[in-house]
Amino acid sequence: MVSWLSPREKDTLVGHEAIGIVEEVGSEVTNVAVGDFVIAPFTHGCGHYAACLAGFDGNCLNAPAGGSAYQAEYLLFNNADWALVKVPGDPKSFSDEMLNSLLSLADVMATGYHAAVSAEVKTGDTVVVMGDGAVGLCGIIGAKLLGAKRIIAMSRHADRQKLATEFGATDIIAERGDEASRTRDGID
Ligand SMILES: [Zn+2]
Repeated sequence: MVSWLSPREKDTLVGHEAIGIVEEVGSEVTNVAVGDFVIAPFTHGCGHYAACLAGFDGNCLNAPAGGSAYQAEYLLFNNADWALVKVPGDPKSFSDEMLNSLLSLADVMATGYHAAVSAEVKTGDTVVVMGDGAVGLCGIIGAKLLGAKRIIAMSRHADRQKLATEFGATDIIAERGDEASRTRDGID
C-alpha cells in the first residue's frame, strides 16, 4: 500500500510564491496592465464575497481549485484585479536583494507578520518564536515591527540563528521541552 503525502496529481507544478511582469491580461482585468511588475500572493481571493470582504481572502471560495502552480516560467493568475499586488517603479532598477524581499511578500513575510498580529504583540512585549524556518524568521521581523522588546528565537541551526539575531531576536534557545524552559529561566 502506498500512502501519499498529498493528493496532488502526478507531474503537476507546485509552488505558491511568485513575482513577475504581466505578459497578458483578461478582458475584465482593469487594475493591472501588460508590463506591470507584480507580486503574486498565494491567497488570490476574488474580492467580492464574504471571506474576502471580511479580510480572509485566503479562504475565498472563488479562488482557483487545486492550489497554485507558481514554480514555472509563466503562470496563469486568477482574480488578478483583487489579488495581484502591483509594485511601482521600473523592475530593471530593483537589486537582487530588493527582488528577494519583494518575493517574500508573496507569502512568508506576510504570514510571519500575520502570526505576530494574531499573537497580539505590542510595544514592550516579550515574544517567543517557535521555529526558525522562513516564516519563523519573518515572525521575528513582524514582532520587532510591532514593538516587541525581547524576542526569543527557538532555533538550533547556526545559519538561521545568525539571521534571527540580524532580524531582531534578542535571545536564542536551541533546547526543546523542559530543557528549553530551564534555559529560558537561566537567561531571564
Ligand atoms: Zn473571494
